[in-house]
Amino acid sequence: MNLSLDMSLVEGYKSKPQQARIMKESWVARNIYCPNCGSHPINGFENNRPVADFYCSQCSEEYELKSKNGKFSSIIPDGAYSTMLERIQSERNPNFFFLNYSTECKVKNFAVVPKYFFTPEVIVKRKPLAPTARRTGWVGCNIDIRKVSTRGTIFLIKDSLVVNQDEVLSKFQQTLFLREQSAGSRGWLLEILKCLDWIPTNEFTLNEMYAFEDYLKRRYPKNNYIKDKIRQQLQVLRDQGMIEFLGGGRYKKLYL
Ligand SMILES: [Zn+2]
Repeated sequence: MNLSLDMSLVEGYKSKPQQARIMKESWVARNIYCPNCGSHPINGFENNRPVADFYCSQCSEEYELKSKNGKFSSIIPDGAYSTMLERIQSERNPNFFFLNYSTECKVKNFAVVPKYFFTPEVIVKRKPLAPTARRTGWVGCNIDIRKVSTRGTIFLIKDSLVVNQDEVLSKFQQTLFLREQSAGSRGWLLEILKCLDWIPTNEFTLNEMYAFEDYLKRRYPKNNYIKDKIRQQLQVLRDQGMIEFLGGGRYKKLYL
């Protein structure tokens, strides 16, 4: 995998955003494989016209590229808030690729976030534009990746190091069961995965999970059986191979 964006591609272009877009999209098309099936390359071009989305012709997964130049941050500015919110709740929502590169055009981080990890709280509303702005009152959004469970942010390149492809594919596969769930069950599982992120150790106890009862009660105020729900969700995660039951109220995460 070549971690340099190809600057020779954009010599004839004057507009900086256009230059950046061409370099990034051609880099993804040349270097990135489909995290769902491993097929390479994935298509970024239809009818010889560059488009923002990537499409895998093997498995039909779709990816939308978001990027950030400079320091890696978990907050990525995006377009209109209402449009984004509508998109993440629709059937046609793509998976997201996040690309972070240095001012010297070297790729530092590249991650995929499967679409079902995008809950409305990941999309944060920005302040409306000031009355002096050209598009006054327009409300944009930020994507806050910190609000995605760590299992939902799968790095292909991390801190300039390329992650083993088999590891990436198996991590992606391990999240696919979430796609089959109804929105309600998926919401619970994503909350439980987030609670697991907050436990710093690999092994944990049921009591440590019960400590999130108040947090979960705030998320689901109508549910009066939070502890039962926690145990039930842990069983689902065990059946999906994400955690192991060690017995005696002790568990082990199978992925860090
Ligand atoms: Zn594919």
